Amino acid sequence: MMSLHRHSGKNPLSVSEVFQKCGSPDARASHVSLLFEMLPLSKASDVVTVRTRFAPSPTGQLHLGHALAARVAHETARGSVRGQFLLRHEDLDGARVREAFYQAIEDDLEWLGLSWDGDALRQSTRMAAYELALERLRGNGLIYRCFCTRREIQDEWARIAAAPQGAAMPVYPGTCRRLTPGQQRQQMDAGAPYAWRLDSRRAADLAGPLTFHDLRFGSLDVDPQLLGDVVLSRKDTGCSYHLAVVVDDAFQHITHVTRGDDLLASTHVHRLLQFHLGLPEPLYLHHPLILDDHGIRLAKRSDSLAIATLREAGKMPAEVLALTDHGLPSAF
Ligand SMILES: [Zn+2]
Repeated sequence: MMSLHRHSGKNPLSVSEVFQKCGSPDARASHVSLLFEMLPLSKASDVVTVRTRFAPSPTGQLHLGHALAARVAHETARGSVRGQFLLRHEDLDGARVREAFYQAIEDDLEWLGLSWDGDALRQSTRMAAYELALERLRGNGLIYRCFCTRREIQDEWARIAAAPQGAAMPVYPGTCRRLTPGQQRQQMDAGAPYAWRLDSRRAADLAGPLTFHDLRFGSLDVDPQLLGDVVLSRKDTGCSYHLAVVVDDAFQHITHVTRGDDLLASTHVHRLLQFHLGLPEPLYLHHPLILDDHGIRLAKRSDSLAIATLREAGKMPAEVLALTDHGLPSAF
């Protein structure tokens, strides 16, 4: 059996190795059971409080994939002395958020027996904190205005892909990083909306080499270029997932960030942001995702696998949680 700690310490995995390890649906399913074998993560002698969070978006119903994510965070906290499990509603995308889903999420968690500590935090109440963080990055010259439309970025990708050297990954090509102050002023005077993007190269140069530690993958070197110059403040919402999650994990004193391994690449950006915002570095646990019979991750539109649907079909909480043990049985 593969050791979860084999890669800790001296021999960090490369990013591509990590993605290979995420592997096939079968490999992912076995990773899930391995994951639960390693819990609880701390012993009675630990003095540091483990604090985790589950952070769904109230834009749809919770499904089995959420149940797994909530369970990993819950068990990580409850497996330690005085551990705390917090709930955060990631509700920045006002156009997609529906009021009824806040309650539906909380009802599902309570029904599953995954109780949380304190009041749930709503990110929509936290805009002032995100603006302060953005201000600090702006003051250090780490972000720049991006006036590009989605269409312009796609055209630029197509142009780069057609060039002899090709394109490795569709990251933002950095068009607006090269704008002169005069060109920026011209766009702003014309009333062009803009996002703020991280200058990932400058941020990496100033930070120097960084690592983060994942309880499943071990110590990983940060690759600041993996996602390129990500958006930290969207044109429509004034914030972005990357900025908000980093600010709020620190605000809520989260010690163990648990989430699906689809977000592993994002953690490279998050470490960079933590460094530049002077925020503490949490431990990470990127768990496997539950995949359907076609190897596709569960989407919010998988209504038949919504927790509420399973409950109404007569399933008991323990049965639903058991479905997250080994991925989905094909008969389901
Ligand atoms: Zn741009």
